[in-house]
Amino acid sequence: MSGLRSSAAAARAAVCVDIDNFKLINDVDGYERGDEVLRELAAILCDEAGRDGIAARLSADNFLLLLPYARCEEALDACRRVAERARGIVGNGKPLSLHIGLCCSEDAPDARDVNELMDRARIAQNESRKRGITPCAYSKPMRDALLRRADLERSMEGALAQGEFFHLVQPKYDVAGTCVLGGEALVRWRRPDEGIVGPDEFIPLFEQNGFILRLDEFVFESVCRDLRARLDAGLPVVPISVNVSRLHLHRPDFLPTYVRIKDEYGIPDGLCELELTESIVIEDLHGVFGIMEGMRRAGFRCAIDDFGSGQSSLNVLKDLPADVLKLDREFLLESSLPGTEETVVRFVITMARELRMETVMEGVETPKQLAFLRTTECDMVQGFVFSRPVPPEEFYRLLETGAPDEGAFRD
Ligand code: C2E
Ligand code: CA
Ligand code: CA
Repeated sequence: MSGLRSSAAAARAAVCVDIDNFKLINDVDGYERGDEVLRELAAILCDEAGRDGIAARLSADNFLLLLPYARCEEALDACRRVAERARGIVGNGKPLSLHIGLCCSEDAPDARDVNELMDRARIAQNESRKRGITPCAYSKPMRDALLRRADLERSMEGALAQGEFFHLVQPKYDVAGTCVLGGEALVRWRRPDEGIVGPDEFIPLFEQNGFILRLDEFVFESVCRDLRARLDAGLPVVPISVNVSRLHLHRPDFLPTYVRIKDEYGIPDGLCELELTESIVIEDLHGVFGIMEGMRRAGFRCAIDDFGSGQSSLNVLKDLPADVLKLDREFLLESSLPGTEETVVRFVITMARELRMETVMEGVETPKQLAFLRTTECDMVQGFVFSRPVPPEEFYRLLETGAPDEGAFRD
C-alpha cells in the first residue's frame, strides 16, 4: 500500500494492528460496511506510514506497519495517532477501537529480521488485547512470560505422569495452638532442573488450559490415599481440605468423580473438605448453592475460601450452605483505620457461628494477630505463626504430637 523508501534506516518498528470485535461490524452492519471500515483504516495507516514506511493488510482485519524512526517515542506517537484517528471511523454504532502492538528494533536486539520483529509486535498486540491498553510496546519480560508459559504447558503432562507434582499440608490449629483440627492440601511442582515451583505460577495457567481439572483430582486422590493409610493403621485423622477450581463446577461429572474417588478409598463422611472461593460462589450464587448442597449430601464438608477478598456482602453469608468459612488474610493486614478490621472480623466470626459455620482465619503470621483472635470465637487458625505447609508425614507427626511452639516456622 505504500513504498519503503529508506529500507536502510537502522531503527524501525513493526506495528501489528487489528480491530476490536471486527466480526461484529460485519455481522451487524453487513460486509459492505465492513469492507469500507477496512478501507478507511487502511487509508489512515498508509498516511502514517508516509513515504518511508510500509503499510500492509495481512489478512481479514490484520494490518502491519513498518516505520523507520529516530527515537522509539516517535513510533509510539504514530501508533497513538492511528488509535486516535481510527476513533473517527464508526462500526457497529461505535467509534472504532484498535489493538495495536509495536516492537521497536532497539527493544528487541535479538530479533534477526523483520519477521522476528513482527512476532514480537504480535506479542505486544496480545498484551494490548488482554490489558485493554493501546498501543502496547513490546518488552523482553512479555516474551519471557510467553516462553515460560509454553515451557510449563509443554511439560505439564509428563510432569504429572512422572510424579513431579505433590502436595503439602498446612495444619489448622485451635486458637490456643495446642491441637491440629484439620489441614489444607496445597500443591507443588518439583521440576528436576529447576526445583520447586509454587502454585501461583502454574495454577492460573492450568485454569486457562484446563489441566487444573486433572491436577485437582490428583491432589484429592493423594489426600484420600494418605487418609486411607492412616485409617488402616488405626491412626488419628482430621478433615483435610482440597481446593476446587471454578472449572470443575461447569462439569456435570465433577461431583460423581469426587464421590467415586472418595468411595474407592472408603473415606468416611466428614473427612474430606472441598474449598470453593468466595469469587466462585458469587459468580453464580444459585447454581453453586445447588452444587454445595450436593457436596454435603455426598458426605463432603464444604468450605468458603478467601471470604472477604471479593465483592460478597454479609447478606450472602446467611444463605450459604457451607460448613466452614475461611476468612481471607486481607482482614489481618494493617488497616488505615486501626480497630475497624478487628470489629469486622469479630462480627463475621460471630455471625458465622450463629449460622452454625466453623471459622478459619487464614494467613495468621504474628503473635499480635493471634492474641486478637484469642479474644474472638474463631475456631481455627491457619498460618505461618503455627506452621507453614509441610509434607504429609510431617503434618501427621504434628497431629499426633500436638503443637509447635508459637511462632515456630517450619519449611
Ligand atoms: P489458598 O487456597 O488461599 O491457600 C493458602 C495460601 O496461603 C497458601 O499458599 C499458603 O502457603 C499461604 N499461607 C498460609 N499461611 C500463610 C501466612 O501466614 N502468611 C502468608 N503470607 N501466606 C500464608 P500457596 O500454597 O502458595 O497456594 C497459593 C494458592 O494456590 C492457594 O491459595 C490456592 O488458591 C492455589 N492452590 C494451591 N494448591 C491448589 C490445588 O491443589 N488446586 C487448586 N485449584 N488451587 C490450589
Ligand atoms: Ca484454599
Ligand atoms: Ca485461602
